[in-house]
Amino acid sequence: MIYGSERVKSLPPYLFSIFHQKKKKLEEQGIDVIDLGIGAPDLPTPSFIIERLIAEAKNGGNHKYSPYGGCQEFREAVASFYQKNYQVELDPDTEVLTLIGSKEGIAHLIQAVINPGDGVLLPDPGYPVYQSAVHLAHGQSLPFPLDETRGYVPAFEKISDADTKQAKLLILNYPNNPTGATVELETFTETVEFARNNQLCIAHDAAYDLVTFRGYESPSLLQVPGAKDIGVEFGSLSKSFNMTGWRIGYVVGNEDLIRALSIVKSNTDTSQFLAIQKAGVTALNSDFSSVSYNNEIYQKRMETVLPALQEIGMEAKKTKGTFFLWAKVPDGYTSQSFAEYVLDHAGVIVTPGTAFGQRGEGYIRISLSVPTERLNEAVERMKNIRKGGTVE
Ligand SMILES: *Cc1c(COP(=O)(O)O)cnc(C)c1O
Repeated sequence: MIYGSERVKSLPPYLFSIFHQKKKKLEEQGIDVIDLGIGAPDLPTPSFIIERLIAEAKNGGNHKYSPYGGCQEFREAVASFYQKNYQVELDPDTEVLTLIGSKEGIAHLIQAVINPGDGVLLPDPGYPVYQSAVHLAHGQSLPFPLDETRGYVPAFEKISDADTKQAKLLILNYPNNPTGATVELETFTETVEFARNNQLCIAHDAAYDLVTFRGYESPSLLQVPGAKDIGVEFGSLSKSFNMTGWRIGYVVGNEDLIRALSIVKSNTDTSQFLAIQKAGVTALNSDFSSVSYNNEIYQKRMETVLPALQEIGMEAKKTKGTFFLWAKVPDGYTSQSFAEYVLDHAGVIVTPGTAFGQRGEGYIRISLSVPTERLNEAVERMKNIRKGGTVE
């Protein structure tokens, strides 16, 4: 790369594009690759949402620029979702902002709040975007461990004084990608207390807020009294409504953080297509039966894959949220060597845990957002190679 800036040149390559290249190469060789590295739902967007998009796309009034902060109707729908789901009161004018997907919002928030050299406490393992966005914003990533023994809940007392001193922002993500861990409100209460004691602001990434099952309901950070004084929460329609390509999400919470973010955004983009925002309103105002339908599918898939993994010597815990399984690699392998072994011998892509940080070593992430037959086939192939055979 000749023209890339120092920041861009020193950025580690985005893992998922590396996998994409490898997969393409194998497929060109005629190998039927099953990709369990996918981070997006395989199921289609519910038709009632598509119908609203079609109607709104035909309305010429929606063809102009959206207001910078997103349209009123969408911001009100987000506020009423928070009221209904979490009993959290939000001012749609100052405490809600439309995003072109939550990824954009997370990256821009980091840009909006940190100065060069400021630290950002982020979960390890964690969604890789946090770390690269901190890098691009000239900040310093300060990973904190999520350990299996603690149920992947942050151990705040283990964060060093130097790190807390340098940090300005703390990022959290529950239901968690990649571990599938979920928390009760108590974890957020502790988070707010820790952040307040150390003058940190909080960004909670709730991309999987509705992707939950087995009777579990995910709490909101904003349900903690005082959370709104220091924190924001990111939401997305991508995972709950199978709308990854639509690029629609939101951020809610602290007015000042949202104002800073909206300044970066209004100088970068002009919000999302109005028709998409209005289709998003229909999704948020729905009865969520489409969400429950998806969740039941993920749960069923999890229940068939888990025992199969155990059979081949891979420990993984039953989850209550996300569509990921976080599995220990069999003895004698690293994350990377096991992922390669499975790809070379079974034609199955799994994500090495180290793609999410150092603490991911010893694990792989398996996505359940793959059609059930393909998932079963992948598991059969893995069983077969573990028993000594190979799959051509
Ligand atoms: C998928 C994902 C996102 C991004 O979602 P978009 O709204 O589509 O940008 C954010 N955080 C996590 C943890 C994710 O897995």
